[in-house]
Amino acid sequence: MNSRYSRQELFIGKESQKRVQDGSAFIMGAGALGSSSAEMLARAGVGELTIVDRDYVEWSNLQRQQLYSEEDARNKLPKAVAAKNRLQQINSEITIHSLVSDVHGLNIEQMIKGHDVIVDATDNFETRLIVNDAAVKLGIPFIMGACVASYGTMFPVIPEQTPCLHCLLNHLPIDGMTCETVGVISPIVQMVAATQVTQVLKILSGEPVKPLLKSLDIWKDEKAEINVMRLKNEDCPTCGKERTYPYLQFENQTKSDVLCGRDAVQIRPATTRTFELSIFLEGLKGTATKPVINPFLLSCEFEDYRMVFFKDGRAIVHGTNDTKVARSTYNRFLQFYAE
Ligand SMILES: [Zn+2]
Repeated sequence: MNSRYSRQELFIGKESQKRVQDGSAFIMGAGALGSSSAEMLARAGVGELTIVDRDYVEWSNLQRQQLYSEEDARNKLPKAVAAKNRLQQINSEITIHSLVSDVHGLNIEQMIKGHDVIVDATDNFETRLIVNDAAVKLGIPFIMGACVASYGTMFPVIPEQTPCLHCLLNHLPIDGMTCETVGVISPIVQMVAATQVTQVLKILSGEPVKPLLKSLDIWKDEKAEINVMRLKNEDCPTCGKERTYPYLQFENQTKSDVLCGRDAVQIRPATTRTFELSIFLEGLKGTATKPVINPFLLSCEFEDYRMVFFKDGRAIVHGTNDTKVARSTYNRFLQFYAE
């Protein structure tokens, strides 16, 4: 017996431990939920982990995003990269892939295919629905999880068995609240992540999971568990008889979106192209101030905004909630890039 996993193996059994070590999990998002899930899965010995995130580490993350350090925040390291660095320190025997990328309907299938299970650790419902479509299409179990303030909710989507997220859309209690507007406390993150990771370990071990929509308010001491099988909708465009997977369609892809509560807009270019950040920085000399550069992104003050520009041309424009303003600023910013 490998003593590293001996306590877990005593509980789940030798066969299941082998399945866990042969298994793979995709972690969608490296914020609070993603950090917590990823650390548990790495310690549990899941053989292959992929973690994707579009953002970088900031000081306000350190209160609950357990994989990150002050140094990561100082260096504005992309979360996926900082997460991988830390996870590899925790367990060097597993394979970890990190993707610094925005997830959308046109790249999601490529990212998740081949994985045994997907952990939802996104911070917005649009992305959850994109993942839901792709997971059902490819037949990969998807463990939904969300939390805000002291409240959390979780549900396992098992393709061809349970209802999917789309079926439950009108029944999910989470509304427009976000962690940026009403805050969040770390214990609820840990509870949601713990429930999600339990489902992952059961799925990898070959154990059945129950179709329960669980919700919990850890501050008010309230909880609910609902069996949602009756909500499986025959007419669901994702898991019903006639499937169109609406969130994977090109016309439903947003090119710019307001990062809720953050006074920032993300711009995603229509074309795929790689930028040399050092060349860009050179072009911005005399125009941009307070530049910070690392191998993944370039951050600087430009006009009245703080621009965070990634190698793939994606940018986060801080200081506005107006997508038009953000787009035009982005376009003026790009003019300083000369190849
Ligand atoms: Zn459905």
